[in-house]
Amino acid sequence: MGEGGEKMKASLVYINGEIITVDDMFSVCEAVAVVDNKIAAVGSNEEINNWIGMETTVIDLNGKSLLPGFIDAHLHLLNFGLTKVSTNLKPCKSIDEVLELLKAKAELTPEGSWVRGWAYNDNNVAENRMPNKKELDSVSTVHPIYIQRSCGHVIAANSKALEIGGITAESLNPEGGEIERVDGAVTGVLKEAARMLVIDQDVYTEQEVFSGLHLAAKDYMQAGITSVHDMGGKGSDHLLYLQKVARDADFKLRIYASIVSFDNSSDAIDKTLDASILTGLGNERFKIGPSKLFLDGSITGQTAAMSEGYVTDPTKGILYKSQDDVNTIMERPHNAGCQITAHAIGDGAVEMMVNCIEHVVNEFPRENHRHRIEHASVCNPELVERIKKLNAVIVINPAFFYDFGDEYVKYIGSKAEWMFPSQSYLEHGVKVAAGSDSPITDFEPLLGIQEIVTRKTKNGTIIGEKECSSLEDAIRIFTINGAYASFEEEMKGSIEPGKLADFVILEGSILNTKPDHIKDIPIKQTVINGEIVYENPVAVMK
Ligand SMILES: [Zn+2]
Repeated sequence: MGEGGEKMKASLVYINGEIITVDDMFSVCEAVAVVDNKIAAVGSNEEINNWIGMETTVIDLNGKSLLPGFIDAHLHLLNFGLTKVSTNLKPCKSIDEVLELLKAKAELTPEGSWVRGWAYNDNNVAENRMPNKKELDSVSTVHPIYIQRSCGHVIAANSKALEIGGITAESLNPEGGEIERVDGAVTGVLKEAARMLVIDQDVYTEQEVFSGLHLAAKDYMQAGITSVHDMGGKGSDHLLYLQKVARDADFKLRIYASIVSFDNSSDAIDKTLDASILTGLGNERFKIGPSKLFLDGSITGQTAAMSEGYVTDPTKGILYKSQDDVNTIMERPHNAGCQITAHAIGDGAVEMMVNCIEHVVNEFPRENHRHRIEHASVCNPELVERIKKLNAVIVINPAFFYDFGDEYVKYIGSKAEWMFPSQSYLEHGVKVAAGSDSPITDFEPLLGIQEIVTRKTKNGTIIGEKECSSLEDAIRIFTINGAYASFEEEMKGSIEPGKLADFVILEGSILNTKPDHIKDIPIKQTVINGEIVYENPVAVMK
């Protein structure tokens, strides 16, 4: 309201909608008014009518859903961007198909330059294994070649790439990694930390990086994502690239960037603290996030640290560090006032992070720390209780049910029932946010929302039915809870006056869609900062 004068008018107004505000009452209204980059008012068509002036753009939603912009609280922006300049192996059904695709790419690539493949899944190919270096050598011996398993934690490399990575039969396994060998000979398969020996040698040009970041942001915005929590990316310049791209006026996506490194996180955390950089530094476009460690690998790569081992293999996966080391590393960022978090997939690793948070919070009490655990893919009732007491935030990856749920059952049996137990968390009052872990799984938040509600695998198996949550909770998880996980719930995550005008508009009503079809609702429009950043060109709004 203008002071004593004429009433202020909106720049943008939506009417006749299913406006899902995600306020405390989960109110659903008809209309919303935006002034510049902020939400001015929410209410009935009649109430919002007052905000319409000569200059106002009025959009009739005709019953469509309008929600707060989705917040993906765990993904890898740069890595997803880099997939845009490498070969997608997800559709391959045999190793021969993989080799063919790589050969086609190699033919277009100058000798000596890298050929990369991603999203390879040994469970989807007839051979049921990773390719070996001999097979990759058949593609080319003059190009370094490597392919990443769908989990991102295991790669297979050809001889040229191994040579560049300095890997020979005599090489020792690095801490937290394995150079796979058969009868003493290197197979080309590199697990966990060992994969970085090759990946770190693979240098992308700055142009590849920036075009990748822009392409990634475009894809995310088309899926209705308006904010992302970046959980780390390739190379030591990763954070620098994210900051640089966020300065570009054409780059609209909001970034909350964790302090992390794929090969030496504790070093990255220390260096950042040495430079007096803490969680929360930045602005609405780019902000420093938590200090993050990696504690274990993945279930499907059988490198996640499970308390009782795998059905298929009695080993317990890989723990990267000792409990004492983790506690000590995390004391410094905790005491400095940073949020801390860790990649913890298996229940063994989740327990390690819970122990660590207990340690820092008990030794050095601090209010409102919002320490997080990334994934916590396999949990248990005792850990849920302890997480509640700590007021920790859990960031789940519901799209894993769809993509990897069947493999979880294969590898960990009935423990899969405790895969991402959102309902147990919510019933205990634990704050749950969610992320796609893109490029590990598809990034569409609507798929994530559907999976929180249904917990259905690609093959239709329901995993742990009693952990299914309501649609309302699933929407909270992808909006306001994501904002909470970055200390930003006062400025975004719901549609309330004064908050940033970040919206997603669906081509239909999500509240009237059957759970199994939520992922199929097209995105109509995405708005960031009061500006339409994506408009579906096919579906015309009327
Ligand atoms: Zn991740």
